[in-house]
Amino acid sequence: MMRDRAGPSGAAVTVEPPATTDFDAIVVGAGPAGSAAALELARAGHSVALLERGPFPGSKNVYGGVVYGRVLDELIPDWFERAPVQRWITRRQTMLLSDERSLTVDFRSQNWGSAPYNGATTYRAEFDSWLADHAQQAGAVLVPSTVVTSLLRTSGGRVVGVRTDREQGDLTARVVIACDGVNSFLAKQAGLYPGEHAEHTTLGVKETLALPKETIDERFGVSGSDGVDIEILGGTGGVPGGGFVYTNHDTLSVGLVLGLPGLAKAGLRPEEILAELKRHPSIRPLVRGAELVEYSAHLIPEGGYRTMPRLVGDGLLVAGDAAAMCLAAGIWLEGVNFALGSGMYAGRAAARALAADDPKRLREYRTLLADSFVLADHRKLRNAPALVLSDRVQQRYPGLVCDLVEGMFTVENPAPKPGLRRLLRRSAKRNGVGLHQLARDALTGLRSFG
Ligand SMILES: Cc1cc2nc3c(=O)[nH]c(=O)nc-3n(C[C@H](O)[C@H](O)[C@H](O)COP(=O)(O)OP(=O)(O)OC[C@H]3O[C@@H](n4cnc5c(N)ncnc54)[C@H](O)[C@@H]3O)c2cc1C
Repeated sequence: MMRDRAGPSGAAVTVEPPATTDFDAIVVGAGPAGSAAALELARAGHSVALLERGPFPGSKNVYGGVVYGRVLDELIPDWFERAPVQRWITRRQTMLLSDERSLTVDFRSQNWGSAPYNGATTYRAEFDSWLADHAQQAGAVLVPSTVVTSLLRTSGGRVVGVRTDREQGDLTARVVIACDGVNSFLAKQAGLYPGEHAEHTTLGVKETLALPKETIDERFGVSGSDGVDIEILGGTGGVPGGGFVYTNHDTLSVGLVLGLPGLAKAGLRPEEILAELKRHPSIRPLVRGAELVEYSAHLIPEGGYRTMPRLVGDGLLVAGDAAAMCLAAGIWLEGVNFALGSGMYAGRAAARALAADDPKRLREYRTLLADSFVLADHRKLRNAPALVLSDRVQQRYPGLVCDLVEGMFTVENPAPKPGLRRLLRRSAKRNGVGLHQLARDALTGLRSFG
């Protein structure tokens, strides 16, 4: 096979079609999407290389969150007995923050504290390594500390492998699956993304804060391996986004997701906004006295369905964050389960195309996704990201709701109690919200979430 030397990044390298390939499939990125894809391919008996730029899977990943298990039931049926779990989420809160006030919806279910469980906090360094181990045990070859720098393509445009930063680093395959996460340069290089999309990207910043397990149990009202997930609207210093607090075994994950254009406009540093969040009267008692053990940041694709690239190219599939499959819809921030699901279906479609020796069957990936929660949820919630990141939901509604509730609970004897309608009109006016706009947003919300 004729090979060019590494070209400038941004362009695929043109090569002759290889007579034989090094592997049946190459998967780029050993995050949840990549390991799920490699696991499916290896189980189907195909040779597969799983390339990861970090020294081990998960080493490059920021994550302060919750993994939802149902898709794992299919991938690794007894996962909950073996996965590296910090705590099982049995208490779920949605908190609206406004200046010095907050309103919290607090739900607890002990049903989630035993098998088959609903969600768990994990450390990504442990979770990703665990998943990649399964792929390896099934026969996939994990190649860590290796950066993929370009796609290898024939002059006809068919992807036939990748170039890496290793000496003699070209690897060929009959199928390549891009699971290289947010800002996938592989999907871009293949021309699957129509344009730039910084406005649909948020910056996730997170602190890991150490506290004794007993202190966490006491402050969050849980015990044993039960844990809490708090999703926050507001508290972002006016930058569109949201926040979170999650309990791990003896640490907390506290963080923010911040829209990039809003962050640039505000001229604020993310760590300042995070420090402000931690000073809020509703958050301060939770994090008081904790020791900072890690600060990290990572981009998140938040645009959802409307911003997904083409998912199938000639010899190439795209899965997970690389395909903008993170679901960010205010009360939900889920990416790992969508990455697992899409990776699994990409691996399955690739295995079928390889077995049939028919590259056209890669298109079945799209059908598998459309028949699953991955595209069903994204399609249903396609209007949610714009609504959730809108100025009204971000800047005005938390204040409106806090005003409304404050009005309901403030006792003003001897004045008689105001009715809800009057309170709503007053709160809407104070926060610059028209009632027609409120009704329109409520309808969009109902259509998306209902
Ligand atoms: C602060 C924060 C909080 C979050 N909270 C949650 C949550 O609570 N629940 C949830 O489900 N999701 C959450 N997410 C989203 C979740 O982390 C992602 O959706 C998920 O990790 C996507 O998985 P992936 O496999 O597609 O990509 P990634 O996990 O990003 O994996 C991509 C992998 O590819 C590797 N890679 C990239 N480029 C190359 C290259 N050129 N060569 C070789 N390897 C490469 C990377 O090192 C990485 O290991 C959060 C994200 C952030 C940043």
